[in-house]
Amino acid sequence: MSARVLVVDDVLPNVKLLEAKLTREYFDVITACDGPEALEKSLSGAPDIILLDVMMPGMDGFEVCQKLKENHKTAHIPVVMVTALSDTADRVRGLKAGADDFLTKPVNDIALFARVRSLVRLKMMMDEWRMRQNTSGELGVLSSETVEADETADGATILVVEDSPIDLERVTQTLSEGGDTVMTADTIKVGLDRAMTDDPELIIVSLTLLQEDGLRLCSQLRSHEQTRQTPVLLLADESDMQRVAKGLELGANDYLLKPIDRNELMARVRTQIRRKRYQDRLRSNYEESLSMALTDGLTGLFNRRYLNVHMARTIGRIAETRKPVSAIMFDIDFFKRTNDTYGHQAGDEVLKEVAQRVSRNLRHFDMVARYGGEEFVVIMPDAAPEAAAMVAERLRLRIDNEAFQLSDPSLPDIHVTISLGVAATDDAEYSPDALIKRADECLYEAKHNGRNCVVVDRGDGPDVYQMPVAM
Ligand code: GH3
Ligand code: MG
Ligand code: MG
Repeated sequence: MSARVLVVDDVLPNVKLLEAKLTREYFDVITACDGPEALEKSLSGAPDIILLDVMMPGMDGFEVCQKLKENHKTAHIPVVMVTALSDTADRVRGLKAGADDFLTKPVNDIALFARVRSLVRLKMMMDEWRMRQNTSGELGVLSSETVEADETADGATILVVEDSPIDLERVTQTLSEGGDTVMTADTIKVGLDRAMTDDPELIIVSLTLLQEDGLRLCSQLRSHEQTRQTPVLLLADESDMQRVAKGLELGANDYLLKPIDRNELMARVRTQIRRKRYQDRLRSNYEESLSMALTDGLTGLFNRRYLNVHMARTIGRIAETRKPVSAIMFDIDFFKRTNDTYGHQAGDEVLKEVAQRVSRNLRHFDMVARYGGEEFVVIMPDAAPEAAAMVAERLRLRIDNEAFQLSDPSLPDIHVTISLGVAATDDAEYSPDALIKRADECLYEAKHNGRNCVVVDRGDGPDVYQMPVAM
């Protein structure tokens, strides 16, 4: 994932310092030295995140942030305010202006990268949902109800996992007064149970539990399907930034330092709740829209009709993102033989299991469709051919390495393999058909090469893929 970061600061050495740090971590960096330029670049440069200096002559950071959030073309880009002051009044002002987070100068590397990564991940997810929503709208299977409307953040259900009575009281009282319903837990086990049964909209996890490590709860929350999407807000001591960074890497969405500032707590909770509700609404609209028209009855995957529209959009979006899009086309080897030997029912079960294994091994925003009988296509935004080939190889192994169990106990487990072709484009004008055609040519080569392998076209024709040797 190579994200583009817009760095805004009126002091050149500050810009250069952040640019150097981010470039070293393979971020793509664009810069602006005042408010108007920042607004212009956030439109023309399509950044994934904006690091915004607060103190600038003319238009200050608060004003820039407010303008960004007012414009529907830029409202979805996460903004991190960079300030020399650690004054909480400033933070609250920034959050009110719509900022997603803060960094204080001199910028701490751990906080910088963890936060930038976590916000970029979130943005990519939201971009994808928005795009799918549009695709469904275009196919006419969705009411044109807008999802851009402001989500309220009132009356939220929040779980707080904290064993310090003083901090717990402060959080509970602040949130209850604000109209939220608060549930509490003082151990990880109780916290996880409540998270699973009561389905809170936000989970606040203390990293200062006396007997336990709150990070363990974070990782458990992320590993359960039911709580994977629930926002997590960490509560930590300033001396514990290393663990905060670790928590963000594990998938926590934001953090708050103790002693807890009430306004800051409210503002951060509101931001997370709003985001969660927005995401839920997109998802439920989207799920409703997955009518028979768009999915394949046997495997539950998208069908070719959906694929066509989705591909056109995904490729078109390269104009904005300037990130390559890859297509993997794959086909089950000797599938006719499976049908002939074990029957059509067994063949259907193999198709379903292949679909499941593949879906489980892709990122959220990758899309897999059943293209034809036993032929499938995966579309990966933001994936260069080399990365896509590596994913293809992983998919190949997932099928090859574990035999397929059939529901008929009289039949043996069977060994199934697939052949895969990979092609990519970084041209927003590229035709979806041409991309499919190149992936298909690679697939043909893979069959020709003995099957159960990956062939990739890196732009100069089909080439049998070899996994790089680990260094
Ligand atoms: P290759 O390795 O060259 O791909 O050989 P193959 O046998 O897989 O290819 P072929 O195209 O000859 O056969 C594809 C088979 O897939 C034939 C068809 O009956 C079967 N098939 C297609 N759709 C379905 C389905 O929905 N269910 C089942 N059970 N079989 C299907
Ligand atoms: Mg400045
Ligand atoms: Mg086949």
